[in-house]
Amino acid sequence: MNVNQSAPPVPPFGQPQPIYPGYHQSGYGGQPSSTAPPTSYGAYNGPVPGFQQTPPLGVSRAPPSSGAPPASTAQAPCGQAAYGQFGQGDIQNGPSSSTVPTQRLPGSQPFGSPLAPAVSQPAVLQPYGPPPTSAQVTAQLAGMQISGAMAPAPPPSGLGYGPPTSLASASGSFPNSGPYGSYPQGQAPPVSQAQGHPGVHPSQRSAPPLASSFIPPTSGGPRMPSMTGSLPPGQGFGAPPMSQPNHVSSPPPQALPPGTQMTGPQGPPPPMHSLPQPGYQLQQNGSFGPGRGPQPNYGSPYPGAPTFGSQPAPPQPLPPKRLDPDAIPSPIQVIEDDRNTRGSEPFVTGVRGQVPPLVTTNFLVKDQGNASPRYIRCTSYNIPCTSDMAKQAQVPLAAVIKPLARLPPEEASPYVVDHGESGPLRCNRCKAYMCPFMQFIEGGRRFQCCFCSCINDVPPQYFQHLDHTGRRVDAYDRPELSLGSYEFLATVDYCKNNKFPSPPAFIFMIDVSYNAIRTGLVRLLCEELKSLLDYLPREGGAEESAIHVGFVTYNKVLHFYNVKSSLAQPQMMVVSDVADMFVPLLDGFLVNVNESRAVITSLLDQIPEIFADTRETETVFAPVIQAGMEALKAAECAGKLFLFHTSLPIAEAPGKLKNRDDRKLINTDKEKTLFQPQTGVYQTLAKECVAQGCCVDLFLFPNQYVDVATLSVVPQLTGGSVYKYACFQVENDQERFLSDLRRDVQKVVGFDAVMRVRTSTGIRAVDFFGAFYMSNTTDVELAGLDANKTVTVEFKHDDRLNEESGALLQCALLYTSCAGQRRLRIHNLALNCCTQLADLYRNCETDTLINYMAKFAYRGVLNSPVKTVRDTLITQCAQILACYRKNCASPSSAGQLILPECMKLLPVYLNCVLKSDVLQPGAEVTTDDRAYVRQLVTSMDVAETNVFFYPRLLPLTKSPIESTTEPPAVRASEERLSNGDIYLLENGLNLFLWVGASVQQGVVQSLFNVASFSQIASGLSVLPVLDNPLSKKVRGLIDSLRAQRSRYMKLTVVKQEDKLEVLFKNFLVEDKSLSGGESYVDFLCHMHKEIRQLLS
Ligand SMILES: [Zn+2]
Repeated sequence: MNVNQSAPPVPPFGQPQPIYPGYHQSGYGGQPSSTAPPTSYGAYNGPVPGFQQTPPLGVSRAPPSSGAPPASTAQAPCGQAAYGQFGQGDIQNGPSSSTVPTQRLPGSQPFGSPLAPAVSQPAVLQPYGPPPTSAQVTAQLAGMQISGAMAPAPPPSGLGYGPPTSLASASGSFPNSGPYGSYPQGQAPPVSQAQGHPGVHPSQRSAPPLASSFIPPTSGGPRMPSMTGSLPPGQGFGAPPMSQPNHVSSPPPQALPPGTQMTGPQGPPPPMHSLPQPGYQLQQNGSFGPGRGPQPNYGSPYPGAPTFGSQPAPPQPLPPKRLDPDAIPSPIQVIEDDRNTRGSEPFVTGVRGQVPPLVTTNFLVKDQGNASPRYIRCTSYNIPCTSDMAKQAQVPLAAVIKPLARLPPEEASPYVVDHGESGPLRCNRCKAYMCPFMQFIEGGRRFQCCFCSCINDVPPQYFQHLDHTGRRVDAYDRPELSLGSYEFLATVDYCKNNKFPSPPAFIFMIDVSYNAIRTGLVRLLCEELKSLLDYLPREGGAEESAIHVGFVTYNKVLHFYNVKSSLAQPQMMVVSDVADMFVPLLDGFLVNVNESRAVITSLLDQIPEIFADTRETETVFAPVIQAGMEALKAAECAGKLFLFHTSLPIAEAPGKLKNRDDRKLINTDKEKTLFQPQTGVYQTLAKECVAQGCCVDLFLFPNQYVDVATLSVVPQLTGGSVYKYACFQVENDQERFLSDLRRDVQKVVGFDAVMRVRTSTGIRAVDFFGAFYMSNTTDVELAGLDANKTVTVEFKHDDRLNEESGALLQCALLYTSCAGQRRLRIHNLALNCCTQLADLYRNCETDTLINYMAKFAYRGVLNSPVKTVRDTLITQCAQILACYRKNCASPSSAGQLILPECMKLLPVYLNCVLKSDVLQPGAEVTTDDRAYVRQLVTSMDVAETNVFFYPRLLPLTKSPIESTTEPPAVRASEERLSNGDIYLLENGLNLFLWVGASVQQGVVQSLFNVASFSQIASGLSVLPVLDNPLSKKVRGLIDSLRAQRSRYMKLTVVKQEDKLEVLFKNFLVEDKSLSGGESYVDFLCHMHKEIRQLLS
């Protein structure tokens, strides 16, 4: 409960930046607070006497109550509680001391000359605007009693969820119509380019060529260098996937009876080569080519099987065979290999089109002109020059952008550049911001825009001479001329209404209905807030947060609190007319925490008492958000609402919902309605919130269906977060809830933000995925944006690209910092362009592809049957791989399954997406769980989707007890579990400790403090604190995993053969799932069949 102990304020962006004397550090760091003095809110037009007649809280008890008996608390059984948590892929980078080959921009060069005149930031202190008009007050007065109805709600428009633009609908269709067979054979690229590919970067050079990386050399016998799934000629495929009589629910590997002919989609399992020599060279980004020896056909047969591969002969009768799971591409091995080859030296961003290390690799980034992969990751770093090529390959061209990503302490936060009153320098035509790719000409008097080619004059104050290479001599002194990422101080032109913004405000809005009181939530929350308010986000060196706070409680009516510092006691004002929400007080509602501390503490002490005996079970929801938004509007500031809500809002009010959960809709054409909001009220409300810069974070504590799909609309469209604690009980869930709450309240947020992605001629951003709102086709509007939120952007060609000039992206985010400073954050990234498909396939990043494809599919379920969405994904994946097979792999039998090196995990990862709860739910997954996960995934970054779809499974007793590093993971399959061991499994949301039935008694004693396996309590969520090395190690590892994720992962202990094991097995994603999801082996065969069909 004591925040002081566990939650120190951590300025996540802060670190001194000595080498840029002329700049101040980004505001999350050393930005002097003097630019944002604590604002006095005195300009609020004084008290409104009429609204202060309510007696002090202690006197006034019991707000109006409907008197409904608390019978409705006879709740349906809780759904799976497995989704309370959400993981932030943490990108911690270990320091690296290795030297970097000199790059285009020597990073070690100090930014010597102090330029950029001392910042004279205009005071952001702004009075709170015009006083409420008399009309307003009158309306308020009227509203206190009763008042008119709200404007008619717009018609429900579930389909309109998302940007209401033609683009959105266009992109809502699934790209699966690649002109596949029409590809001219002659275009098959010279794959031998693999070695001399331009733009090969230093880290590539250091990467040892990996041989046969498909197969971890685990057990005796030579490992297969490659794999070929081949089919006996003439064998038919025809049956639809998913129902596979031969592969009933046993996990792989599956033993087939002698002579079994695979029917249906499967074909025989891919026979395995046993050739000992490498089938291909693994390049970092590359594929393999003829110059590198044999094709990576996973050619020769697994033991006892006939050789399919290039053999034309029909297969011999099949002896009993077993597909060796070790012989198919292993995520664990790929992750391990990348860590070994790329984790040891920094990733230097000076060279165009470099593929960064995997998100699972710890590496340091040196910004030398392109944005760090922590900010932007692309599906491919070499994009086709023409749209025909792109269509042929079907590889989505997308960037996953995390504009405010947190950096490890070793890396510099973006520098803040202040150009004074003239503001940042931009291209006159396309409005792109000055960046390292702009070309200065005519002795430095003009510059040519790298995005639109427009020639611009250099303003006199920005003029500088060029050196003999045409580069400005001050290039290294200016972040905007030498770095991939930096910030500009925005001028007043970039502010709403041409006024510098006020500091943002936080409003805590607490459900005090019967359920919230009964579970102890209200008491817990109020107690926590008393200390948590000391940890509101601050800018750099500020002594106290500039953020003001306000409080509202509600059930079917709203209670506002006056906590003005001059009051002896807080005052409550009740607004029962929820149809026409207004804020009954201005002065005293949003206050400085320190000034009003005594009154706030008194309020938080009283709230649980006031409502202790409530019988009110009904709640409203939309009016609560409306009230918070109106309060921010009245205060003329941006901000965030923290809503703590327990039930389906069935009270009579705008946004009233009905229980429309219907599991019978699953697998029907109407399943999509489960994901759509049931009313358009929330979308309209969200639009108003975005206009006000009002971000909504929602904490849900449901005992039954609450319609997450509808309730999460406003958080989703305002850049907020949703947390869900099903069947909340203080004793079981307080640790998780409080941990999430502390992080959520303390996290740095950019408010009232607009993001625009500009591109060089030839491609443009056409589609966007994430938690935001769009009112046109280009501007991503974010009422709030935190360091975890990610926007995925898809690009399409609108012209031919040029290999020489490549393609450029510039992401510009305009936002208000938590101290009220208006800023622009710029990220630039240059990509290569290719005329050979092999170059595309050599420079893809599968983790990013999966991030895009999952978001694409999860949006698709709003409009299409889930099966259609799944089929579309499968088709697209098959097209991607078939195009590679046809155009980039050397000639070989059509029976061979050949995967591009950097996409060899595409099938296994895609299968995980296909059988995820959103696309193929198990019986225990509730509608709310699916809606919850759907919206979580929408703003996940690449590391998060990676671990979410393919969980980490860590054996705990195999590695030496004294080892301090995380144990090496094993593949997520039941056959990797030893019943003599214990394992931790995590996916960013869930954390399981699985205990094998034969685990040593000493281990049981050391971890659980009981004598035997049978005495371990099933479903345990806390390990006893024991003073022995194993206990300390396991608890330490759990703490470490939790620290890596942005949400707290609750632990569940699962015993082998226990009933909870079903839940756990759902995360063993390489196995066939109970909901019908294919095993990895089966899916690979399925994919091979699809590819063969495309190639035939
Ligand atoms: Zn331009």
